[in-house]
Amino acid sequence: MSVLPRRFKRIKSVLNRRIQDLTVLVEGVSKPHNLSAILRTCDAAGVFEANFICKKNEVKTFNSTAQGSQKWVNLNNHSSSIDAAKKLKKKGFKLFGTTLNKKSIDYRKLDFTQNTCFILGAEKWGLSDDLLAEVDECIYIPMYGMVQSLNVSVAASILLFEAIRQRDRVGLLPKNGEGIDQQKYQKTLFEWAYPEIKDSYKENNYEYPEIDENGEICK
Ligand code: SAM
Repeated sequence: MSVLPRRFKRIKSVLNRRIQDLTVLVEGVSKPHNLSAILRTCDAAGVFEANFICKKNEVKTFNSTAQGSQKWVNLNNHSSSIDAAKKLKKKGFKLFGTTLNKKSIDYRKLDFTQNTCFILGAEKWGLSDDLLAEVDECIYIPMYGMVQSLNVSVAASILLFEAIRQRDRVGLLPKNGEGIDQQKYQKTLFEWAYPEIKDSYKENNYEYPEIDENGEICK
């Protein structure tokens, strides 16, 4: 059983545009429709992996709003906010905490063309003080209405697509797979093309086989 050529072409064209150095870290967002909408936006923007803080015994639930985007965006679950922030910093990400405090800078004044992580907070309480202490920059999206804040998934969309706009302007949007490292590219290509058999490779600790330019598994 092989992946259909048309399907393989589509998978490759999406993967070719995926971006590893643009991500979100989501803290405390609990409503499935918000989590789902954030993930769907990540997929649409070309984000390769998204980060969630998932405390013990907590299961992140996505609903139909996600439109299956959880299959196309890698999910990193972190057990604590500090842990997540430290890991992302170690990977070279600059952490932009979204919050409406006095130190916050208008997002339109900042550069998101490299190693960008937007940190998004809970529906009711926003970001925790612990996490705010770890961020490199606090940012906000200016608003002119009566309501105090945007829906979290709307804020995520505005920021991610601003990063995409900036990168497009300076020719930094990947087109041929250069946005993710080669090993991850090959691994993901196999997992996307052959989702029904990838688990059996994993369970048996087998390396994924190579696939050729038509999506056929090389013997
Ligand atoms: N009372 C909360 C607070 O003070 O942060 C409001 C939380 S808001 C409903 C949920 C999340 O959406 C925030 O933590 C932030 O990530 C994002 N958000 C909402 N409005 C925003 C804005 N104007 N600028 C940046 N982020 C915003």
